[in-house]
Amino acid sequence: MQRTGHEFYRKTRNNSIVKLVRERYIRDDIPCQSEACKSTPSCQEATPTSSALLTGDATHYVVPDISASTLVAIRYLEILEQEELRNIIVPQTVMLSLQQHDKSRTYKRLRQVVGDPRRNSIVFYNEICSDTHVSRLPGESSLHREERALRKLAEWYHQHTGKRIIILSELFTSSSSQGVEIYSVEQYLKKMWPEHTTLQNLREVLKEAEIEEDLDTIRLFSSIDSKKGRPVAGYTEYRSSADLEAGIKSNRYISGIIRINASNRDQAFVANNNSPLGDVMIVGNEDRNRAVQGDTVVVELLSEVNQATPSFGISYDGNDDEELGYQASVEPNSTKRRPMGRVVGIIQRNWRSYVATIQEDGVEQGGSMHLAIPLHPVIPKIRIRHQDVKSIANQRIVVRIDSWPVSSQYPNGHFVRSLGPIHQLDTEISAILVEHGIPESQASRGFGEACMREMPTDTPETPWRPTEEELSTRRDLRNIDIFSIDPPNCQDIDDALSVHELGDGRIELGVHIADVSYFVKENSHTDLEARARVDRFAGKLTKGLQLPHGGLLTRKDLYYLIVSVIWTLDNNYKVVDTWFGRSVIRSACEMEYEQAQELFNGADTVKGLDKKTAQKLKKSVVKLVDILRVVRERRLGKGALELESSEVKFQIASEHNITDIIPKKELEVHEIVAEAMIMANASVAERVHQRFKDSALLRHHPAPTKERFKLLEQAAATRGYQIDYTSNKTLAHSLEHIADQSSDDPALVSLLKTMATMAMNEAGYISSGNTTFDHYYHYGLALPYYTHFTSPIRRYADVIVHRQLMECVLETSVSPSPATPSLLHSNSKLLNLCLNLNLKTRESKLAQRDSAELFQSLYVLQQLKNGPIIMSGIISEIRSNGFFVYVPRLVLKGPVYLKDKSGELMVPLSIVSGNSSDDNAYMTNCSYDSDNQTYVAINAADLPRPIKFQLFDHVQVSLKLHMSHAHRHQVYMTLVGFEHRQAANVKLSTKTLTEEIISGEHKEVQATKEKSKSAKASKAFRQTAQNDSVYAILESFRQMNLIEDSEESQ
Ligand SMILES: [Zn+2]
Repeated sequence: MQRTGHEFYRKTRNNSIVKLVRERYIRDDIPCQSEACKSTPSCQEATPTSSALLTGDATHYVVPDISASTLVAIRYLEILEQEELRNIIVPQTVMLSLQQHDKSRTYKRLRQVVGDPRRNSIVFYNEICSDTHVSRLPGESSLHREERALRKLAEWYHQHTGKRIIILSELFTSSSSQGVEIYSVEQYLKKMWPEHTTLQNLREVLKEAEIEEDLDTIRLFSSIDSKKGRPVAGYTEYRSSADLEAGIKSNRYISGIIRINASNRDQAFVANNNSPLGDVMIVGNEDRNRAVQGDTVVVELLSEVNQATPSFGISYDGNDDEELGYQASVEPNSTKRRPMGRVVGIIQRNWRSYVATIQEDGVEQGGSMHLAIPLHPVIPKIRIRHQDVKSIANQRIVVRIDSWPVSSQYPNGHFVRSLGPIHQLDTEISAILVEHGIPESQASRGFGEACMREMPTDTPETPWRPTEEELSTRRDLRNIDIFSIDPPNCQDIDDALSVHELGDGRIELGVHIADVSYFVKENSHTDLEARARVDRFAGKLTKGLQLPHGGLLTRKDLYYLIVSVIWTLDNNYKVVDTWFGRSVIRSACEMEYEQAQELFNGADTVKGLDKKTAQKLKKSVVKLVDILRVVRERRLGKGALELESSEVKFQIASEHNITDIIPKKELEVHEIVAEAMIMANASVAERVHQRFKDSALLRHHPAPTKERFKLLEQAAATRGYQIDYTSNKTLAHSLEHIADQSSDDPALVSLLKTMATMAMNEAGYISSGNTTFDHYYHYGLALPYYTHFTSPIRRYADVIVHRQLMECVLETSVSPSPATPSLLHSNSKLLNLCLNLNLKTRESKLAQRDSAELFQSLYVLQQLKNGPIIMSGIISEIRSNGFFVYVPRLVLKGPVYLKDKSGELMVPLSIVSGNSSDDNAYMTNCSYDSDNQTYVAINAADLPRPIKFQLFDHVQVSLKLHMSHAHRHQVYMTLVGFEHRQAANVKLSTKTLTEEIISGEHKEVQATKEKSKSAKASKAFRQTAQNDSVYAILESFRQMNLIEDSEESQ
């Protein structure tokens, strides 16, 4: 090893520049991490092929010159972020340079590119590698040295891999040679991506963009404040970082993430946990001082007298319940006054890609600067440059913010690409994906070549078969009747069941799951790919990649490799022994839910099953239901909750035509299969934790927080019900009691249960080492340990759990090699993975909610063509300007406004007349009285007595659509009449309809087996689109959420 000095400059807090000297050790064993490297043994030793990152089949590798001093280059970072670009070698010197110049955002973005395994990109330690290290020559400029260093690195790579190496630089002047080419980004795109107009256009746009990082750099490197302009709109320059730091220390400032109130964009909040006063409120655009939703800001507290009360009205442009977690911080109906503040600095921008629409009036005016209105109502309009605005008018476009100088009323940004014409289903679905950070092209792409090569060949001509040797290591269950119960046409069956009577009164109950960890090794290409995407695109794992018999496919004469959980039960169905391990099975039958239910109901013959099989399986199914009913009852006795989810099925007849919205129907068999899966997940969780005390991947559902249950408590009290949520047991009791007492009002029961579900905390993945035993408890399921094990083909967490279980039962490490440390044993690595999985799950949940709203609005749009849509509903929430009504028939919650934006009352005459056509005429001279919580009363001189609307009152509403250009159409409702909540007064027809729907919904929700729903839905989708369409993508993240809702009762 060799020692060398290294010096660099660093900006200090007070903006002076100091020279630092560091010593480095030079090494000669740094591997190139390329599959193409065949000649250098030290590379191959250090990186076994399974973890090589640069692909062997690439035409070229890219070495970008993005250092802090090359101003031009930073702006092109967005090009590198495009997922088409792969095999990028980022020199560590580039990373260092960004770090040293406080380019933390650029640094993070670059790290993200390199950290995404799908990009096959790496950081190379060129400075400590003896072959690529370059010392500065006397009198040499840093640019020249950098150029030499990158060149040397490129040449070294060319020698190792034989690939064309392309250095991207806007400044380097030397010419290409020896397999090393130097291009500007423009030249590179023209040469290597000539057809890719999106990339070409993006570069054009970026060339013009004023990027905030650039501005900072200009300030740092030049003394002229050329870019600063005169402040406008009441904005002020941000304070220096030294000021901010001192202010935070002395509690004069607080820092935190800024959240904007979706129902009143003039109000923003920054959480302030240190103060009993609670969150700091920021009122108005001026005091928000260019902060954007999600930015980490520094807020100066205004004097104590300045306090304000958060408003609590219904938003007039949709997106009302902003983010799920937000409700907790802005406590509804709270009249508590809050301290006010003003943004004086930004610690971290949280800018992302935004979906937007060009402001309509701007299109007529022409010109090159335009305002784009983001889809998300709390994001400010963004000023972008576009030469041909007519071509993107009436389209949903993707834009990015580049900078927000003090001299500009709106942030400056740039156009990235168009998603298509507004209000088209495809466009709007793409918009939802972008808004939730779900890469669309990634989703529709199958698994790559490299992944496919890792799978054994398995074609109809040469089917893959396990070797005798492999079979001999597995428990042989081929003589046992094992069957699967799934929705019709299920393609990716990954679980099966068995009930085997031992003859002495004991029974073996088995759950059998596809042995995915046998085929997918840790850190293999497939594993990395799945890790990056699988929790969202769970369904895709099998679409792009058929696991040979790891998935239980419908081939009769084949054996399946399985991981089994087998419980030995005594005659009271108590577990006396549990066996976990690898096995081999033969499938006796793939049943559909309906078939299994019929067998259980007593049918001797069932359509689609031959008589012999039916007879054989009938006994098993009956026994299975018998056992799992008992298991389920016991779990409910311990406090497990039966909550509501509002899953619906959309019937889509053609691309733009949603013909119906149907609440799901549920069979008992669904519940039974789900119970078996819950039982398996719980057993595996406990087993895995025995060995992995500090790093078991578990699933935790925390007990509810008080604040979130308060509203529900108060709401239930208006009907005289008590909700006791001291424990899950008391809560289950309370809900049961309400159901009994209100059996004549199923809509109310369903609504209260939905509200309880909403008030729950979200379940999430945890690493056992990060918390203590009492934090493992799953509140909703009432289980001490829980995890996800039963869907490894569709969820990545399950793959990890399979590997951990295998280490337990095989008593040996399943890590690929000692060189690459396994994730399984590292609490911190696992914790990171959990955070990531939880984040993505949450985004996909929000995306799912958005897509349901999209479908509902399209449905209303179509139905309105046939005349008014009058529905029965129930008041679900009272706000300061109206209330929300829940329509069970469509599983839809929508606002009824009683005041307009300016606060004027608008009480429709139809309430009195009962005539729906009167809903456009308003009562005059009336007054409004409300506690913003349980009732609204309307009083008018010509009314005999006030009309009072109370929470949970039944009403008749007419569904309307608020048509929008820049946003999705929003469903709202007008009141057309009352229904008395006493059952006797309800018109029979409505009542029957409601009951029918609600009762179906009820049963469904409890412990639904997710697949039935998703398959039904995907069938509906399939009528119109092939598998890789956006519908399929949407479907795959629906699946993910359905699993959550059903097994978890979240
Ligand atoms: Zn090499």
